[in-house]
Amino acid sequence: APNAGLPGARPVRAPRGTALTCKGWEQEAALRMLMNNLDPDVAERPDDLVVYGGTGRAARSWEAFDAIVAALRALEGDETLVVQSGKPVAVLRTHAAAPRVVIANSNLVPRFATWDEFRRLEQLGLTMYGQMTAGSWIYIGSQGIVQGTYETFAAVANRHFGGSLAGRLVLTAGLGGMGGAQTLAGTMNGAVVLGVEVDESRIDKRLATGYCDRKAHDLDEALAQVEHARRSGSALSVGLVGNAADVLPELVRRGVVPDVVTDQTSAHDMLHGYVPAGLTLAEAAALRVDDPAEYVRRSTASAVRHVAAMRALQKAGAVAFDYGNNIRTVAYDAGFAEAFEIPGFVPEYIRPLFCEGKGPFRWVALSGDPADIHRTDALALELFPHDHALRRWITLAREKIHFQGLPARICWLGQGDRARFGVALNDLVARGELSAPIVIGRDHLDTGSVASPFRETEAMRDGSDAIADWAILNALVNVASGASWVSFHHGGGVGIGNSLHAGQVTVADGSPLMRERLQRVLTNDPGMGVARHADAGYPEAIAAASRHGLNLPMR
Ligand code: NAD
Repeated sequence: APNAGLPGARPVRAPRGTALTCKGWEQEAALRMLMNNLDPDVAERPDDLVVYGGTGRAARSWEAFDAIVAALRALEGDETLVVQSGKPVAVLRTHAAAPRVVIANSNLVPRFATWDEFRRLEQLGLTMYGQMTAGSWIYIGSQGIVQGTYETFAAVANRHFGGSLAGRLVLTAGLGGMGGAQTLAGTMNGAVVLGVEVDESRIDKRLATGYCDRKAHDLDEALAQVEHARRSGSALSVGLVGNAADVLPELVRRGVVPDVVTDQTSAHDMLHGYVPAGLTLAEAAALRVDDPAEYVRRSTASAVRHVAAMRALQKAGAVAFDYGNNIRTVAYDAGFAEAFEIPGFVPEYIRPLFCEGKGPFRWVALSGDPADIHRTDALALELFPHDHALRRWITLAREKIHFQGLPARICWLGQGDRARFGVALNDLVARGELSAPIVIGRDHLDTGSVASPFRETEAMRDGSDAIADWAILNALVNVASGASWVSFHHGGGVGIGNSLHAGQVTVADGSPLMRERLQRVLTNDPGMGVARHADAGYPEAIAAASRHGLNLPMR
């Protein structure tokens, strides 16, 4: 049914330029980033206050949005606004170096942490779903997922292929909201990518935005294109219209073995996400309504064939990994015992980065002027000349990433480098080389900020997957260090009951006080990640801790 949005819906866009609408830049930054999250160029369903990830919201209702905006406009530089699941509930006198906003979203007492109970409470107007960067006002559009996927593929290249995916074939499926980043992130790493997608309109969308190079309807045609590119060593992405549960077993039968195989079909949801083989999209949509149980029976059977084919390709020599969509669990629960022979992407490729305090570092130009981001791109290249993956990313991102909303950039930086870069950004603002302050933040998916046993903390070395103290400590440490706003959420990408995570955002306004706060926050925030992984016994983290002089009493 057509959706007119929640009561009070209207288009929202962040102010640009240097004129303040609040009493200071920290408050102004929070206001602009809240509004930027709801910019029609950024948000998936702005009228419903939904920013991304199903129902991840920036505010609980339009009434609450208006109240947050009014509170931020009136907020003094020694006050803190308290936000409870998207609703402003108090303004307190604190001090100048304290956060201007503290936020808690979607948290439930563990015994009650189920989707059913969450939805009941949401219906009563008592909570909202905050996802990770929706309810914490630091979403920057699809650049984040492109960069995260780029980083994963770069880690795959480093581990298995001598640092480059040139001449390598990456086979994947699912080119949707997040999965559509795979084709671009793959070619940015030099790879040939074959992406199987059952819904042709999804491929067309990726072609239109330049995320995917070509479309094919026929496997022979697609294979001819990718084999040609693979031999010539040129990067190419091809979206093949088809069902992964048909195409992958056919590749196994033909003996076509890719270098890498993964998957981002929406297998976390066997009714509304994954499409069974043997049905057209229209037939699948009809069956979903007419006989949901039969739909799930068929989609599950398809996922089993799909995962079995991934496993067969792995046995034949392909590097295989699960990309956080839960498809292994589906196949395993339906009786495919070898499903977990395919490793998850975090333990395999991301955790070594987490051990160094590396994670997604992003910044946004409050001026709205792309020239400010171009100046900061140059700064990143000046400061980190030896980081090849970062160089290639920044260079390609300048060319291929279109800004959505306020201009922004993301790259992965580790312990030491985050603080150096943040302070250097503040110095640029102080020297007047940028036209307005810069907001520095990150995803909740980061080194020390999340407890999530099916994703970020899967298969921890010491078995501490479900220990959530670390995420809470991360939020507390960010408050103590003087971040501009700090958030603590439940749910996120893996859903209610499955994760707890924290975020921080800090504003480089060029002042000496913010310089000190940035130095502290950007040292202690990733530092908690190094500490968390050192505590779990990772040698890379223990080495990083001693290299950076982190004081860990029992290490
Ligand atoms: P989406 O629903 O936007 O896209 C999924 C796509 O898969 C759709 O385009 C759909 O047509 C296609 N599809 C479904 N069944 C198929 C089949 N059998 N064969 C071929 N194509 C099929 O979802 P999304 O936002 O792109 O996310 C994809 C999955 O990745 C989700 O399960 C999500 O939870 C997961 N995810 C993981 C991470 C991570 O941890 N790295 C990040 C984001 C999303």
